[in-house]
Amino acid sequence: MTEKATIKGLTLNELETWMAKIGEKPFRARQVYQWMYKKNVRSFDEMLNLSKGLREKLADTALLSLFTVYEKLESKLDKSIKYLFRLADDQAVEAVYMEEDKRITVCLSTMVGCPIACPYCATGVMGFKRKLSTGEIIDQLLFIQSDLGIKATNIVFMGMGEPFLNYDNVIKAASILNSELGPEIAARRITISTAGLVPEIRCFAEEGHRFKLAVSLNGTTDSQRDEMVPINRKYPMRDLMAAVQYYTKLSRRHITFEYILIDGFNDSEQDAKRLINLLTNISCKINVIPYNENEFLPYKSPSEQKLINFLKYLYRAPFTVTVRRSKGQDIAAACGQLYVQNRQGS
Ligand code: SF4
Repeated sequence: MTEKATIKGLTLNELETWMAKIGEKPFRARQVYQWMYKKNVRSFDEMLNLSKGLREKLADTALLSLFTVYEKLESKLDKSIKYLFRLADDQAVEAVYMEEDKRITVCLSTMVGCPIACPYCATGVMGFKRKLSTGEIIDQLLFIQSDLGIKATNIVFMGMGEPFLNYDNVIKAASILNSELGPEIAARRITISTAGLVPEIRCFAEEGHRFKLAVSLNGTTDSQRDEMVPINRKYPMRDLMAAVQYYTKLSRRHITFEYILIDGFNDSEQDAKRLINLLTNISCKINVIPYNENEFLPYKSPSEQKLINFLKYLYRAPFTVTVRRSKGQDIAAACGQLYVQNRQGS
């Protein structure tokens, strides 16, 4: 038996080429593209403007659904929902649905595991298994939209994996998510978050993408970042900041820094002051995220008082400072936690 083609993850041009190969007209590709990416259908049978014959032909030759659900957990504290998906090779990957007012954000994974190995991150400690294909990245969103009957307004590539180590698949996934015939999520509402891969930040700037860029900073000195974000040993802060300046200058956009606040590690007055010095001349905003502590890792969340003290200093900064509370603390919503929990229990 010939293996079925994976059409999820194809661009419209690629789908047209594939359709031609199976003897179908290009306009059929447009119809399938819309059913697949805009209407979130998960079987060819639901593609009602295709003839029965074509639907059967497609079902015989192509795969539409790339995974099943291992586990789905709904938070009792907020409206977040975490999914653990089982991929075709039995690997597992997570995605999180988050709701706040009218904003519906879905956090997508780009790898199974992660080679960057940040010690505060559950994904980092599980090691690296493999990169996800474009289709596997997109299907996380499509599955959730279909399951919950919702349409996401925002996408963040902040789940399992370093997006810029899977650069081509991530950029392609973001472009499909942005496409008019697809989910049509505005580019400014799609955020790609990197731990600080300097060549890819420069490449992203040069390619002129309109998606938003975020950098996980998590420290203000090389020694702090060497420990918490080990890719810093390869791309130290001086190089990272130069790449960030290059990006903001070329794109004329600001950049977002994520700063996970960890008790006793990067939450002092000196840290806040260093942060202001470091970022003052950069067109940026910073998201301070109190660490979401968990039973698998030794790091602790800062107390409310420590958070307030840190912000008191930081609010003197000339850039915007926001605080992002971790969602779904009761459902292991930080990246990799549900996977680790699940695999340890199995
Ligand atoms: S924080 Fe991001 S880059 Fe670091 S190990 Fe986790 S997934 Fe990888």
